[in-house]
Amino acid sequence: MPAYIEEPARRIPVIAETDVLVIGGGSAGIGAAVAAARGGAHSMLVERYGSLGGLATNGLIILLLTMDDGHGKQVIAGLCQELVDRLSARNACYFPPSGEWGLDDAELIERYRRAGLVWGRGPHVVRYSVAYDPEEFKVEADQLLLETGVDLRFHRWAVGVVRDGSRITHVIFESKAGREAIACNAVVDATGDADIAVLAGEDVERERVHPWLWFRTAGADRSLAEEAPDRPTYYRTVHESGYLHPWGAAERIDRDIDPTDPDDLTYAEVECRRLVRAELDRLRGNTPGFEHAWIAQFANTLGITESRRLVGRYMLRREDMDQPPFDDTIAITGNWTKYGAIYHIPFRALCARETDNLLAAGRCMSSDHRAHHSTKEIPPCFATGEAAGFASALALQHNAAPVDVDVSALQAKLRAAGAILP
Ligand SMILES: Cc1cc2nc3c(=O)[nH]c(=O)nc-3n(C[C@H](O)[C@H](O)[C@H](O)COP(=O)(O)OP(=O)(O)OC[C@H]3O[C@@H](n4cnc5c(N)ncnc54)[C@H](O)[C@@H]3O)c2cc1C
Repeated sequence: MPAYIEEPARRIPVIAETDVLVIGGGSAGIGAAVAAARGGAHSMLVERYGSLGGLATNGLIILLLTMDDGHGKQVIAGLCQELVDRLSARNACYFPPSGEWGLDDAELIERYRRAGLVWGRGPHVVRYSVAYDPEEFKVEADQLLLETGVDLRFHRWAVGVVRDGSRITHVIFESKAGREAIACNAVVDATGDADIAVLAGEDVERERVHPWLWFRTAGADRSLAEEAPDRPTYYRTVHESGYLHPWGAAERIDRDIDPTDPDDLTYAEVECRRLVRAELDRLRGNTPGFEHAWIAQFANTLGITESRRLVGRYMLRREDMDQPPFDDTIAITGNWTKYGAIYHIPFRALCARETDNLLAAGRCMSSDHRAHHSTKEIPPCFATGEAAGFASALALQHNAAPVDVDVSALQAKLRAAGAILP
Protein backbone atom coordinates (compact mmCIF):
# COMPACT_ATOMS: atom_id res chain seq x y z
CA MET A 1 0.00 0.00 0.00
CA PRO A 2 1.50 3.41 -0.94
CA ALA A 3 1.99 5.82 1.97
CA TYR A 4 0.29 8.69 0.13
CA ILE A 5 -2.06 9.30 -2.74
CA GLU A 6 -2.19 12.46 -4.85
CA GLU A 7 -5.55 14.21 -4.83
CA PRO A 8 -6.41 15.73 -8.22
CA ALA A 9 -7.02 19.50 -8.17
CA ARG A 10 -10.73 20.33 -7.99
CA ARG A 11 -12.93 23.38 -8.09
CA ILE A 12 -14.55 24.35 -4.82
CA PRO A 13 -17.74 26.43 -4.96
CA VAL A 14 -17.65 29.67 -2.92
CA ILE A 15 -21.06 29.45 -1.26
CA ALA A 16 -21.05 32.66 0.77
CA GLU A 17 -19.13 35.77 1.71
CA THR A 18 -19.02 37.38 5.13
CA ASP A 19 -17.21 40.09 7.05
CA VAL A 20 -16.48 38.04 10.16
CA LEU A 21 -16.32 34.26 9.97
CA VAL A 22 -16.47 32.60 13.38
CA ILE A 23 -15.61 28.93 13.42
CA GLY A 24 -16.85 26.89 16.38
CA GLY A 25 -20.11 27.41 18.22
CA GLY A 26 -18.97 26.95 21.83
CA SER A 27 -19.13 29.74 24.40
CA ALA A 28 -16.28 31.62 22.69
CA GLY A 29 -17.87 31.31 19.25
CA ILE A 30 -21.25 32.47 20.52
CA GLY A 31 -19.57 35.50 22.12
CA ALA A 32 -17.60 36.31 18.96
CA ALA A 33 -20.49 35.92 16.51
CA VAL A 34 -22.93 38.01 18.55
CA ALA A 35 -20.37 40.75 19.22
CA ALA A 36 -19.33 40.94 15.55
CA ALA A 37 -22.99 41.35 14.53
CA ARG A 38 -23.64 43.94 17.24
CA GLY A 39 -20.51 45.73 16.10
CA GLY A 40 -22.14 46.23 12.71
CA ALA A 41 -20.45 43.48 10.69
CA HIS A 42 -22.01 40.68 8.71
CA SER A 43 -21.29 37.82 11.07
CA MET A 44 -21.38 34.13 10.23
CA LEU A 45 -20.90 31.24 12.64
CA VAL A 46 -20.04 27.79 11.35
CA GLU A 47 -20.24 24.78 13.67
CA ARG A 48 -19.54 21.11 12.92
CA TYR A 49 -22.41 19.78 15.07
CA GLY A 50 -26.10 20.70 15.20
CA SER A 51 -26.24 22.78 18.38
CA LEU A 52 -24.44 25.61 20.13
CA GLY A 53 -22.51 25.59 23.39
CA GLY A 54 -19.66 23.14 22.70
CA LEU A 55 -18.42 21.76 26.00
CA ALA A 56 -20.86 24.03 27.83
CA THR A 57 -23.81 22.01 26.49
CA ASN A 58 -22.68 18.94 24.56
CA GLY A 59 -19.89 18.26 27.06
CA LEU A 60 -22.35 18.56 29.98
CA ILE A 61 -20.00 21.05 31.63
CA ILE A 62 -23.05 22.88 32.88
CA LEU A 63 -21.50 25.10 35.54
CA LEU A 64 -20.27 28.65 34.92
CA LEU A 65 -17.18 28.78 37.12
CA THR A 66 -16.79 31.55 37.87
CA MET A 67 -17.91 35.12 37.28
CA ASP A 68 -16.25 36.66 40.33
CA ASP A 69 -12.81 37.25 41.81
CA GLY A 70 -13.36 35.01 44.82
CA HIS A 71 -13.82 37.99 47.14
CA GLY A 72 -17.42 38.68 46.22
CA LYS A 73 -16.77 41.04 43.30
CA GLN A 74 -18.12 40.23 39.83
CA VAL A 75 -15.38 40.37 37.16
CA ILE A 76 -17.15 38.88 34.13
CA ALA A 77 -20.44 40.24 32.80
CA GLY A 78 -21.21 41.20 29.19
CA LEU A 79 -22.70 38.45 27.07
CA CYS A 80 -22.13 35.78 29.73
CA GLN A 81 -24.33 37.77 32.12
CA GLU A 82 -26.86 38.30 29.34
CA LEU A 83 -27.15 34.55 28.86
CA VAL A 84 -27.53 34.02 32.61
CA ASP A 85 -30.34 36.61 32.60
CA ARG A 86 -32.06 34.81 29.74
CA LEU A 87 -31.72 31.43 31.45
CA SER A 88 -32.94 32.99 34.69
CA ALA A 89 -36.06 34.28 32.96
CA ARG A 90 -36.69 30.65 31.90
CA ASN A 91 -36.07 29.40 35.45
CA ALA A 92 -33.28 27.33 33.93
CA CYS A 93 -30.32 28.24 36.12
CA TYR A 94 -29.33 28.40 39.76
CA PHE A 95 -26.85 30.76 41.47
CA PRO A 96 -26.33 32.61 44.73
CA PRO A 97 -27.93 36.08 44.84
CA SER A 98 -25.43 38.94 44.84
CA GLY A 99 -25.98 39.66 48.54
CA GLU A 100 -24.44 36.28 49.36
CA TRP A 101 -21.25 36.54 47.26
CA GLY A 102 -18.18 36.55 49.46
CA LEU A 103 -19.99 35.29 52.59
CA ASP A 104 -18.31 32.52 54.59
CA ASP A 105 -21.58 31.15 56.01
CA ALA A 106 -21.13 27.34 56.34
CA GLU A 107 -24.76 26.52 55.63
CA LEU A 108 -24.80 28.54 52.41
CA ILE A 109 -21.49 27.07 51.29
CA GLU A 110 -22.83 23.54 51.81
CA ARG A 111 -25.99 24.40 49.87
CA TYR A 112 -23.99 25.65 46.88
CA ARG A 113 -21.42 22.84 47.14
CA ARG A 114 -24.25 20.38 46.53
CA ALA A 115 -25.01 22.16 43.25
CA GLY A 116 -21.37 22.05 42.09
CA LEU A 117 -20.70 25.72 42.77
CA VAL A 118 -17.90 25.32 45.36
CA TRP A 119 -14.52 23.91 44.31
CA GLY A 120 -10.93 23.90 45.50
CA ARG A 121 -9.49 24.11 48.97
CA GLY A 122 -11.09 26.20 51.69
CA PRO A 123 -11.58 28.32 53.60
CA HIS A 124 -14.52 28.81 51.26
CA VAL A 125 -16.76 31.76 50.54
CA VAL A 126 -19.87 31.88 48.36
CA ARG A 127 -18.96 32.63 44.74
CA TYR A 128 -20.86 33.98 41.78
CA SER A 129 -21.02 30.71 39.86
CA VAL A 130 -24.02 29.39 37.97
CA ALA A 131 -25.52 25.92 37.36
CA TYR A 132 -27.82 25.69 34.35
CA ASP A 133 -29.91 23.47 32.10
CA PRO A 134 -27.95 22.70 28.89
CA GLU A 135 -30.99 22.17 26.68
CA GLU A 136 -32.39 25.59 27.61
CA PHE A 137 -28.89 27.02 26.99
CA LYS A 138 -28.93 25.60 23.44
CA VAL A 139 -32.29 27.18 22.61
CA GLU A 140 -31.39 30.54 24.17
CA ALA A 141 -28.10 30.57 22.25
CA ASP A 142 -29.89 29.76 18.95
CA GLN A 143 -32.38 32.56 19.56
CA LEU A 144 -29.72 35.05 20.65
CA LEU A 145 -27.80 34.50 17.42
CA LEU A 146 -30.87 34.73 15.25
CA GLU A 147 -32.13 37.88 17.02
CA THR A 148 -28.71 39.47 16.53
CA GLY A 149 -28.72 38.64 12.82
CA VAL A 150 -25.87 36.11 12.88
CA ASP A 151 -25.82 33.88 9.80
CA LEU A 152 -25.76 30.45 11.44
CA ARG A 153 -24.44 27.41 9.54
CA PHE A 154 -24.40 24.04 11.30
CA HIS A 155 -23.01 20.69 10.13
CA ARG A 156 -19.85 21.91 8.44
CA TRP A 157 -16.27 21.09 9.44
CA ALA A 158 -13.55 23.62 8.71
CA VAL A 159 -10.80 21.68 6.92
CA GLY A 160 -8.68 24.22 5.08
CA VAL A 161 -7.85 27.87 4.54
CA VAL A 162 -6.77 29.88 1.52
CA ARG A 163 -4.23 32.62 2.20
CA ASP A 164 -3.25 35.69 0.30
CA GLY A 165 -0.04 36.96 1.86
CA SER A 166 -0.69 37.55 5.55
CA ARG A 167 -4.49 37.21 5.25
CA ILE A 168 -6.96 34.34 5.15
CA THR A 169 -9.30 34.97 2.23
CA HIS A 170 -11.42 31.80 2.43
CA VAL A 171 -12.08 28.94 4.80
CA ILE A 172 -12.91 25.56 3.29
CA PHE A 173 -15.55 23.31 4.85
CA GLU A 174 -16.61 19.70 4.37
CA SER A 175 -20.16 18.50 4.86
CA LYS A 176 -22.69 16.19 3.27
CA ALA A 177 -22.95 18.91 0.62
CA GLY A 178 -19.31 18.27 -0.28
CA ARG A 179 -16.43 20.71 -0.14
CA GLU A 180 -17.37 24.39 0.00
CA ALA A 181 -15.51 27.66 0.55
CA ILE A 182 -16.65 30.77 2.41
CA ALA A 183 -14.98 34.10 1.64
CA CYS A 184 -14.25 36.35 4.62
CA ASN A 185 -12.58 39.52 5.79
CA ALA A 186 -11.75 38.33 9.29
CA VAL A 187 -11.66 34.94 11.01
CA VAL A 188 -12.20 34.03 14.67
CA ASP A 189 -10.85 30.62 15.61
CA ALA A 190 -13.23 29.40 18.34
CA THR A 191 -12.74 25.70 17.61
CA GLY A 192 -11.26 24.99 21.05
CA ASP A 193 -8.50 23.03 19.30
CA ALA A 194 -6.99 25.95 17.32
CA ASP A 195 -7.89 24.16 14.07
CA ILE A 196 -7.83 27.35 12.01
CA ALA A 197 -4.54 28.52 13.48
CA VAL A 198 -2.99 25.16 12.54
CA LEU A 199 -4.47 25.28 9.02
CA ALA A 200 -3.10 28.82 8.64
CA GLY A 201 0.39 27.64 9.61
CA GLU A 202 0.51 29.42 13.00
CA ASP A 203 2.56 27.99 15.87
CA VAL A 204 0.55 26.17 18.51
CA GLU A 205 1.27 24.46 21.82
CA ARG A 206 -0.10 20.94 22.17
CA GLU A 207 -1.16 19.00 25.23
CA ARG A 208 -2.08 15.36 25.78
CA VAL A 209 -4.81 14.90 28.40
CA HIS A 210 -6.91 12.46 30.32
CA PRO A 211 -10.40 12.80 28.83
CA TRP A 212 -13.40 13.22 31.09
CA LEU A 213 -16.94 12.03 30.46
CA TRP A 214 -19.48 13.89 32.56
CA PHE A 215 -22.85 12.18 32.79
CA ARG A 216 -26.27 12.54 34.34
CA THR A 217 -28.21 9.93 36.27
CA ALA A 218 -31.93 9.67 36.90
CA GLY A 219 -33.96 7.52 39.27
CA ALA A 220 -31.96 8.08 42.48
CA ASP A 221 -33.85 8.54 45.75
CA ARG A 222 -32.89 12.09 46.62
CA SER A 223 -33.59 11.87 50.35
CA LEU A 224 -31.05 9.02 50.66
CA ALA A 225 -28.56 10.15 47.99
CA GLU A 226 -28.11 13.56 49.62
CA GLU A 227 -27.08 12.07 52.94
CA ALA A 228 -25.07 9.06 51.69
CA PRO A 229 -21.84 8.69 53.71
CA ASP A 230 -18.48 8.62 51.82
CA ARG A 231 -20.33 9.28 48.61
CA PRO A 232 -18.52 9.94 45.33
CA THR A 233 -18.92 13.45 43.89
CA TYR A 234 -22.25 14.24 42.27
CA TYR A 235 -24.26 17.42 42.06
CA ARG A 236 -27.91 18.36 42.08
CA THR A 237 -29.05 19.53 38.68
CA VAL A 238 -31.14 22.65 38.19
CA HIS A 239 -34.31 20.63 37.97
CA GLU A 240 -35.22 18.60 40.98
CA SER A 241 -34.62 15.06 39.80
CA GLY A 242 -31.30 13.73 38.67
CA TYR A 243 -27.62 14.26 39.38
CA LEU A 244 -24.64 15.50 37.41
CA HIS A 245 -21.52 13.34 37.77
CA PRO A 246 -18.21 15.02 36.88
CA TRP A 247 -16.65 11.67 35.98
CA GLY A 248 -12.94 11.52 35.34
CA ALA A 249 -11.61 12.90 38.58
CA ALA A 250 -11.35 9.73 40.64
CA GLU A 251 -11.12 7.03 37.98
CA ARG A 252 -9.46 7.54 34.61
CA ILE A 253 -8.65 5.65 31.46
CA ASP A 254 -5.18 4.20 31.38
CA ARG A 255 -3.39 6.79 29.24
CA ASP A 256 -3.30 10.39 28.11
CA ILE A 257 -4.70 10.96 24.64
CA ASP A 258 -4.09 13.43 21.84
CA PRO A 259 -7.53 15.08 21.55
CA THR A 260 -6.90 15.89 17.88
CA ASP A 261 -6.19 12.26 16.91
CA PRO A 262 -9.42 10.51 15.84
CA ASP A 263 -8.06 7.09 16.78
CA ASP A 264 -7.19 8.27 20.29
CA LEU A 265 -10.66 9.80 20.53
CA THR A 266 -12.30 6.56 19.41
CA TYR A 267 -10.41 4.63 22.07
CA ALA A 268 -11.32 7.20 24.73
CA GLU A 269 -15.03 7.33 23.84
CA VAL A 270 -15.42 3.55 24.10
CA GLU A 271 -13.28 3.20 27.21
CA CYS A 272 -14.87 6.13 29.08
CA ARG A 273 -18.38 4.79 28.43
CA ARG A 274 -17.37 1.34 29.68
CA LEU A 275 -15.84 2.81 32.84
CA VAL A 276 -18.79 5.11 33.48
CA ARG A 277 -21.17 2.17 33.32
CA ALA A 278 -18.95 0.36 35.85
CA GLU A 279 -19.24 3.50 37.99
CA LEU A 280 -23.03 3.26 37.77
CA ASP A 281 -22.86 -0.35 38.96
CA ARG A 282 -20.72 0.77 41.92
CA LEU A 283 -23.18 3.55 42.75
CA ARG A 284 -26.06 1.06 42.62
CA GLY A 285 -24.20 -1.32 44.93
CA ASN A 286 -22.59 1.10 47.39
CA THR A 287 -24.41 4.40 47.50
CA PRO A 288 -27.75 4.58 49.31
CA GLY A 289 -30.44 6.05 47.07
CA PHE A 290 -28.83 4.89 43.79
CA GLU A 291 -30.09 1.28 43.87
CA HIS A 292 -32.49 1.89 40.98
CA ALA A 293 -30.70 4.77 39.24
CA TRP A 294 -29.75 4.72 35.57
CA ILE A 295 -27.58 6.73 33.18
CA ALA A 296 -29.90 9.35 31.72
CA GLN A 297 -27.24 10.92 29.50
CA PHE A 298 -23.59 10.69 28.62
CA ALA A 299 -22.04 13.94 27.49
CA ASN A 300 -22.14 13.96 23.68
CA THR A 301 -18.54 15.09 23.54
CA LEU A 302 -15.64 13.99 25.72
CA GLY A 303 -14.46 16.49 28.29
CA ILE A 304 -11.21 17.77 26.80
CA THR A 305 -9.64 20.35 29.08
CA GLU A 306 -6.91 21.33 26.64
CA SER A 307 -5.52 20.31 23.28
CA ARG A 308 -3.87 22.95 21.06
CA ARG A 309 -3.44 26.63 21.84
CA LEU A 310 -2.33 29.44 19.57
CA VAL A 311 1.11 30.86 20.24
CA GLY A 312 -0.02 34.44 19.87
CA ARG A 313 1.54 37.89 20.07
CA TYR A 314 1.48 37.52 23.85
CA MET A 315 1.28 34.30 25.84
CA LEU A 316 -0.53 34.77 29.15
CA ARG A 317 1.57 33.10 31.85
CA ARG A 318 1.15 31.95 35.42
CA GLU A 319 3.43 34.86 36.45
CA ASP A 320 0.77 37.27 35.15
CA MET A 321 -1.65 36.22 37.91
CA ASP A 322 -2.54 39.09 40.26
CA GLN A 323 -0.41 41.55 38.27
CA PRO A 324 -1.60 45.06 37.34
CA PRO A 325 -3.74 45.31 34.19
CA PHE A 326 -2.13 45.34 30.75
CA ASP A 327 -2.79 48.44 28.65
CA ASP A 328 -4.66 46.20 26.22
CA THR A 329 -6.72 44.26 28.78
CA ILE A 330 -9.95 43.05 27.18
CA ALA A 331 -11.24 40.78 29.97
CA ILE A 332 -10.63 39.84 33.58
CA THR A 333 -11.08 36.35 34.96
CA GLY A 334 -11.00 34.81 38.40
CA ASN A 335 -9.93 31.24 39.14
CA TRP A 336 -12.47 28.54 39.96
CA THR A 337 -10.37 26.88 42.68
CA LYS A 338 -8.43 29.85 44.08
CA TYR A 339 -10.00 32.72 45.93
CA GLY A 340 -8.79 36.18 44.95
CA ALA A 341 -6.58 35.00 42.06
CA ILE A 342 -7.23 37.01 38.92
CA TYR A 343 -5.78 37.41 35.44
CA HIS A 344 -6.08 40.38 33.13
CA ILE A 345 -6.29 39.04 29.59
CA PRO A 346 -4.52 41.19 26.97
CA PHE A 347 -5.83 41.58 23.43
CA ARG A 348 -2.45 40.40 22.11
CA ALA A 349 -3.18 36.91 23.55
CA LEU A 350 -5.95 36.59 20.93
CA CYS A 351 -3.81 37.75 18.01
CA ALA A 352 -2.13 35.40 15.57
CA ARG A 353 1.48 36.25 14.82
CA GLU A 354 1.62 35.61 11.09
CA THR A 355 -1.99 36.06 10.00
CA ASP A 356 -3.29 39.63 10.32
CA ASN A 357 -6.98 38.78 10.14
CA LEU A 358 -7.01 35.80 12.54
CA LEU A 359 -7.96 36.02 16.22
CA ALA A 360 -8.29 33.02 18.56
CA ALA A 361 -10.76 33.02 21.45
CA GLY A 362 -11.83 30.65 24.20
CA ARG A 363 -9.76 27.70 25.28
CA CYS A 364 -7.41 27.96 22.27
CA MET A 365 -6.28 31.54 22.97
CA SER A 366 -2.62 32.06 23.74
CA SER A 367 -1.76 31.10 27.33
CA ASP A 368 0.59 28.74 29.08
CA HIS A 369 -0.62 25.51 30.66
CA ARG A 370 -1.14 27.06 34.10
CA ALA A 371 -2.85 30.30 33.10
CA HIS A 372 -5.08 28.12 30.89
CA HIS A 373 -6.71 26.74 34.08
CA SER A 374 -8.28 30.19 34.46
CA THR A 375 -8.76 31.29 30.85
CA LYS A 376 -10.41 28.06 29.67
CA GLU A 377 -13.46 28.39 31.93
CA ILE A 378 -16.78 29.13 30.25
CA PRO A 379 -17.18 32.76 31.46
CA PRO A 380 -13.75 33.89 30.18
CA CYS A 381 -14.38 31.98 26.93
CA PHE A 382 -17.49 34.12 26.44
CA ALA A 383 -15.48 37.24 27.30
CA THR A 384 -12.54 36.56 24.96
CA GLY A 385 -14.99 35.60 22.22
CA GLU A 386 -16.85 38.85 22.67
CA ALA A 387 -13.59 40.82 22.46
CA ALA A 388 -12.57 38.97 19.28
CA GLY A 389 -15.96 39.65 17.67
CA PHE A 390 -15.98 43.37 18.46
CA ALA A 391 -12.34 43.70 17.39
CA SER A 392 -13.06 42.08 14.01
CA ALA A 393 -16.07 44.34 13.38
CA LEU A 394 -14.17 47.45 14.46
CA ALA A 395 -11.22 46.60 12.22
CA LEU A 396 -13.54 46.40 9.26
CA GLN A 397 -14.98 49.87 9.96
CA HIS A 398 -11.48 51.36 10.06
CA ASN A 399 -10.14 49.34 7.18
CA ALA A 400 -7.52 47.87 9.50
CA ALA A 401 -6.41 44.31 10.19
CA PRO A 402 -8.05 42.83 13.32
CA VAL A 403 -4.66 42.36 14.99
CA ASP A 404 -3.97 46.11 14.49
CA VAL A 405 -7.26 47.36 15.85
CA ASP A 406 -7.33 50.48 18.06
CA VAL A 407 -7.46 48.80 21.48
CA SER A 408 -8.87 51.79 23.35
CA ALA A 409 -11.79 51.89 20.90
CA LEU A 410 -12.25 48.14 21.45
CA GLN A 411 -12.22 48.59 25.22
CA ALA A 412 -14.84 51.34 24.89
CA LYS A 413 -17.04 49.01 22.81
CA LEU A 414 -16.69 46.24 25.37
CA ARG A 415 -17.55 48.54 28.26
CA ALA A 416 -20.57 49.85 26.41
CA ALA A 417 -21.67 46.23 25.92
CA GLY A 418 -21.50 45.60 29.68
CA ALA A 419 -18.05 44.02 29.98
CA ILE A 420 -16.10 44.64 33.18
CA LEU A 421 -12.64 46.06 32.53
CA PRO A 422 -10.09 47.67 34.86
C1 LIG B 1 -13.84 18.00 32.26
C2 LIG B 1 -13.99 19.50 32.15
C3 LIG B 1 -14.51 20.20 33.22
C4 LIG B 1 -14.70 21.58 33.12
N1 LIG B 1 -15.30 22.24 34.15
C5 LIG B 1 -15.70 23.51 33.96
C6 LIG B 1 -16.60 24.11 34.87
O1 LIG B 1 -17.08 23.48 35.83
N2 LIG B 1 -16.96 25.42 34.66
C7 LIG B 1 -16.46 26.14 33.60
O2 LIG B 1 -16.81 27.32 33.48
N3 LIG B 1 -15.62 25.57 32.71
C8 LIG B 1 -15.26 24.26 32.85
N4 LIG B 1 -14.47 23.66 31.91
C9 LIG B 1 -13.92 24.43 30.79
C10 LIG B 1 -14.94 24.77 29.72
O3 LIG B 1 -16.00 23.83 29.68
C11 LIG B 1 -14.33 24.83 28.31
O4 LIG B 1 -12.98 25.18 28.31
C12 LIG B 1 -15.12 25.85 27.47
O5 LIG B 1 -16.48 25.44 27.45
C13 LIG B 1 -14.50 25.95 26.09
O6 LIG B 1 -15.27 26.80 25.27
P1 LIG B 1 -14.78 27.08 23.79
O7 LIG B 1 -15.90 27.81 23.13
O8 LIG B 1 -13.44 27.68 23.81
O9 LIG B 1 -14.59 25.64 23.13
P2 LIG B 1 -15.61 24.45 22.95
O10 LIG B 1 -16.68 24.49 23.95
O11 LIG B 1 -14.76 23.22 22.84
O12 LIG B 1 -16.29 24.77 21.54
C14 LIG B 1 -15.64 24.56 20.31
C15 LIG B 1 -16.72 24.38 19.25
O13 LIG B 1 -16.10 24.33 17.98
C16 LIG B 1 -16.63 23.27 17.21
N5 LIG B 1 -15.57 22.87 16.30
C17 LIG B 1 -14.37 22.35 16.63
N6 LIG B 1 -13.63 22.15 15.54
C18 LIG B 1 -14.38 22.55 14.48
C19 LIG B 1 -14.14 22.59 13.08
N7 LIG B 1 -12.98 22.20 12.55
N8 LIG B 1 -15.13 23.06 12.27
C20 LIG B 1 -16.32 23.47 12.80
N9 LIG B 1 -16.59 23.45 14.12
C21 LIG B 1 -15.62 23.00 14.96
C22 LIG B 1 -16.98 22.23 18.25
O14 LIG B 1 -17.94 21.31 17.79
C23 LIG B 1 -17.48 23.08 19.41
O15 LIG B 1 -18.86 23.33 19.33
C24 LIG B 1 -14.27 22.27 31.97
C25 LIG B 1 -13.73 21.56 30.89
C26 LIG B 1 -13.61 20.19 30.97
C27 LIG B 1 -13.12 19.43 29.78
